[in-house]
Amino acid sequence: MTEPMVVVENLSKVYRTGQIEVHALKSVSFSVQPGQLVAVQGRSGSGKTTMLNLIGGLDAPEQGRVVVDGHEVTALDEAGLLRLRRETVGFVFQSFGLISVLSAAENVGVPLRLARVGGEEREDRVRRLLALVGLQAHVNQRPYELSGGQQQRVAIARALANRPRLLIADEPTGQLDSQTGREIMQLIQALVRTQGVTAIVATHDPGLLNLADTVLELRDGALVGQAAVPV
Ligand code: ADP
Ligand code: MG
Repeated sequence: MTEPMVVVENLSKVYRTGQIEVHALKSVSFSVQPGQLVAVQGRSGSGKTTMLNLIGGLDAPEQGRVVVDGHEVTALDEAGLLRLRRETVGFVFQSFGLISVLSAAENVGVPLRLARVGGEEREDRVRRLLALVGLQAHVNQRPYELSGGQQQRVAIARALANRPRLLIADEPTGQLDSQTGREIMQLIQALVRTQGVTAIVATHDPGLLNLADTVLELRDGALVGQAAVPV
């Protein structure tokens, strides 16, 4: 048996605002094998973002445990979480999150600079990453000179810059038309197949679920379904 890339055990999260408690995640457990593309579905408010943030160490749970690539995320201190986010996990968000004054290449170079990858090696890696996502002809364009789908490709290249084992994407197609959304999901699928990265992708577009190896369904914070997608 290979070690799972992600283990989630009895994970719960409660948000408290004044007197009101929201049970955003209710004792969720599952594991993800390396090299899998996992889709997380569920309507708005079902807990998808909460769960992805807990897996990536962006937030802390009420209860439960997360292990990513052998690192016990829920036991890491701030420095450990910073390392996890820099080295082990790459994030992609719905709104792309690119820096508008930087070119595509400079955006992809940001995490490499943070990891102190210097000069020529950085430029070389940026070039390869942008080619990997099909943007070799657009390296010097700024985000506003790129389409939404192209911006998300830059964001995916940036997320992969430090060769993470796990890619976490929170509704990466949410701002895209359905055809472009499908192309982005297909790109993520191709990266999982060719780069050996494992991916967990939240989506509420049912048309994209057949690209995943496994679909997890959240409803009101509870995991209600877990299915391998028939091929
Ligand atoms: P999804 O990503 O599936 O739309 P979320 O994880 O964002 O769902 O939200 C799950 C539930 O938790 C929702 O009821 C939402 O309103 C609530 N929630 C999310 N973030 C916060 C927060 N920071 N403070 C209070 N409630 C929150
Ligand atoms: Mg969300």
